[in-house]
Amino acid sequence: MHVLLVEDDLALGAALAQGLDQAGWRTVWVRRLKEAREFLKEGQGLGTLLLDLGLPDGEGLRLLHELRGQGDNMPVLVLSAQNDLDTRLRALREGADDYLVKPFAFTELIARLQAVARRSSGFASSRWQVGSLCIDTHARKVSVDNLPVSLSPSEFVLLLELVRKAGKVINREYLVDYLRCGSFNALEVHVHNLRSKLGSRWVRTVRGVGYLLSGGAEPSAGSA
Ligand code: CA
Repeated sequence: MHVLLVEDDLALGAALAQGLDQAGWRTVWVRRLKEAREFLKEGQGLGTLLLDLGLPDGEGLRLLHELRGQGDNMPVLVLSAQNDLDTRLRALREGADDYLVKPFAFTELIARLQAVARRSSGFASSRWQVGSLCIDTHARKVSVDNLPVSLSPSEFVLLLELVRKAGKVINREYLVDYLRCGSFNALEVHVHNLRSKLGSRWVRTVRGVGYLLSGGAEPSAGSA
């Protein structure tokens, strides 16, 4: 899972970025709204936003307001030393998914981060199904036609991303970056392995563009 951490405090930001990385969250840490906006513009892979409110170039809530105004539903967890009811309510009204008051225990941050990411990722529960393909995101289990399928972590992440954006073409550049696999060739290997494990009908190639989850329809007789 990816996190964009927006925190101007050097010591806190560095500690959080390191801790999050160690806890398995791929973390990008920025210290200004301007940098956060730049990342959000390009970085479709940044799953959850951890947002400080008092930033050198403005209020964190402005960024939240902009995001929600653009219809962006990315999970947002506000981290702030401001503990007054007014600010907390304002953050929630602007569309924050949760609000954590500094100082906080790192374990609580992780617990809330997981909850927020899970709730907001489009998986109301941890189970997801398309046709005979079932995914339990919590237990990290996948099955097709009730038969368990064992996926590598990269294949699992790839499948989840395809499922999350089912029906839409996800471009190759984005997936290479998202999986941090380095090249189109490496991505093709993951796709190939995923297909050989799930069956070829789930992942469709859009030549020169990317991939999409096809919903598992069998190709009709006679089609290429
Ligand atoms: Ca601050």
